[in-house]
Amino acid sequence: MPTSRPLSICWLRRDLRLHDHAPLALATAESQAVAVVFILDRVILDALENSRDRRLTFIHRSLCELDSKLRAHGSMLIVRTGDPAEEIPQLAQELGAKCVYTGKDYEPYARTRDAKVAQSLFESGIDFVAVKDSVVREGGEVLSQERNPLRVYTPYRKSWERSFEPERDAAEHQVTLAHLVQAKEIPEQYKTSLPSLNDLGFEEVDLWLSPGEDAALEKLGQFAPQMHRYRELRDFPAAHATSGLSVHLRFGTISVRKMVRLALSQTSEGAETWLREIIWRDFYQDILFHFPDVVERPFQRIYDDLEYPGEQDHFSAWCEGKTGYPLVDAAMRCFNATGWMHNRLRMVVASFLTKDLLIDYRQGEAYFAAGLLDFDLASNNGGWQWASSVGADPQPYFRIFNPILQSVKFDPEGKFIREWCPELSHLEGEALHFPARASEFELLTANVELGKNYPKPIVDHATQKERAISLLAVAKSTGSE
Ligand SMILES: Cc1cc2nc3c(=O)[nH]c(=O)nc-3n(C[C@H](O)[C@H](O)[C@H](O)COP(=O)(O)OP(=O)(O)OC[C@H]3O[C@@H](n4cnc5c(N)ncnc54)[C@H](O)[C@@H]3O)c2cc1C
Repeated sequence: MPTSRPLSICWLRRDLRLHDHAPLALATAESQAVAVVFILDRVILDALENSRDRRLTFIHRSLCELDSKLRAHGSMLIVRTGDPAEEIPQLAQELGAKCVYTGKDYEPYARTRDAKVAQSLFESGIDFVAVKDSVVREGGEVLSQERNPLRVYTPYRKSWERSFEPERDAAEHQVTLAHLVQAKEIPEQYKTSLPSLNDLGFEEVDLWLSPGEDAALEKLGQFAPQMHRYRELRDFPAAHATSGLSVHLRFGTISVRKMVRLALSQTSEGAETWLREIIWRDFYQDILFHFPDVVERPFQRIYDDLEYPGEQDHFSAWCEGKTGYPLVDAAMRCFNATGWMHNRLRMVVASFLTKDLLIDYRQGEAYFAAGLLDFDLASNNGGWQWASSVGADPQPYFRIFNPILQSVKFDPEGKFIREWCPELSHLEGEALHFPARASEFELLTANVELGKNYPKPIVDHATQKERAISLLAVAKSTGSE
C-alpha cells in the first residue's frame, strides 16, 4: 500500500470547492487520509464541438484554484484524463483506497456512469458512497401525500417547504482539512498536474465572471445586501438584481445550502422569492430524476407528435440576434458574447422561438446547451419545456409573450437594448422597442435603416400568435397521453 494511513478518495465532479462540501466532509470525517481527485472526462470533452467553449476555461481556472488551496493544506489535487468509469476504479485500486466518496449527480449519463463505477469498485472490494450535495432536496424526498412525484411546481414547493428541516437540509458540511492526504504521501506517478487547456484541445477565453470558490463567495456576499429588493427588481435585465450565481452552482464553486442559509437569514419578500427560485431548481432536478425521458420528449405526451412548421433561416436569424425584435436580438447577442442570459430574457427568447417562429423547442434547448456557461440539463430542459408549453407545469399554451410589450415593461429605458444593439441606441420610446413601427423621421434622425443596419421583423407577432395557438390547441385536442 503506497500510503502509511488507510486512504479514501473524494471524487469531485460538480462540486469544485472546499467549503460546505457534503462528500468531502463525510470522507474526511470517516477517513484519516483523503485524496481529492478530478477526472477530465473524455466522454464529455470529446462531445464538445467548440474549442473555445467557455465552460472549459471556467472549470480549468476553478481546478487551478482548488489545487492551490489543497497545496496550502499540504495536499494536492490528483487529476486524470479519460473515462471515469475506468479511471476511478483503477486509481482507487492502485492507491489502495478503501472507499470512494462523491456527490450525487442525477443526470442520466452520470447515473449510468456512477453505476458502472460502483460495480467495478464493488468487485475490487472498495466501497462507493454517493451523497446528496448539489441540491437541497433530491428526487424522492419531496412527494405528494400519496407518496408520488409531484408534477406541478406549487404543490412541489409547498411540500418542499412543509418537510424542510434547516438543520438537516441546509446544515453546513465542514471539511476536516487535517484529514486530507499529504502530497508527500502520494506516490510520484500519481502527482499528475492539471493539463493545460491547449493540451486538452481547448483555448483559454475571456469570461464575464471570475471562476473559483473565492469569486463565488464574493458574489454571494455582494448579493446579500441587495436580496431584499430581489422580488421587485429581478425581472429587469439592466438592473443586475439577480445573484448571477447559476454558473457557480453549476460547477459547485458555491454550496446551494449556503445560499439557502443566506435566504433564511433575512425576512424579506426578496429573500422568500429568491428561495423559491432555488426551489424551482430542485423541482426541475426532481422532474429529471423521476421522468428522465424528458430529455428526449415533451413531459406532456399529448405533444409527442407535434410538428413545428418553422423555417430554418428564421432559426439562424434568432441565433444571430437578427429577428427585428430588439429585446430578442439584444438577449441573443448578449448570450452569444457572454454565454449567459437573464431569466426574463430566456423566457422571452424561448417563447419567441417556439411561438413566434414556430420552431421545435429542442432546437433552442440544444443551442442554449451548447453555449450556456450555467448549462444544467434539468433547468434548461425544464425552462424550454415551460416556455413552449409542453412541460411539467408549463406556461399555458394560449398565453404568449408579446416581445414588444415585454421590452417596454422590463427594459423601459432601453438600457439593455442599447447595450447590445448599439445601432438602435439613438432611438427613443416605442421606436426603440420596435423600430419597424417607428416613423421615417425617427429612423432617419437615429441613423437606423431597416433592412440595412438593423433587420426588418422576420415575422408579424400578431399573425404568428394566432398560428401558435391553433397549432398547440389542435395538438392538445388530438394528441394522446
Ligand atoms: C429557457 C430557459 C433555459 C434555462 N436554462 C438554465 C440552465 O441551463 N441552467 C440554469 O442554471 N438555469 C437555467 N434557467 C433558469 C434561469 O434562467 C437561471 O437559473 C437564472 O437566470 C440564473 O441567474 P441567477 O443565478 O442570477 O439567478 P437568481 O435569480 O439569483 O436565482 C438563484 C438561483 O435559483 C435558480 N433558478 C432561478 N430561476 C430558475 C428557474 N427558472 N429554473 C430553475 N432554477 C432557477 C438558479 O440556480 C439561480 O442561480 C433557464 C430558464 C429558461 C426560461
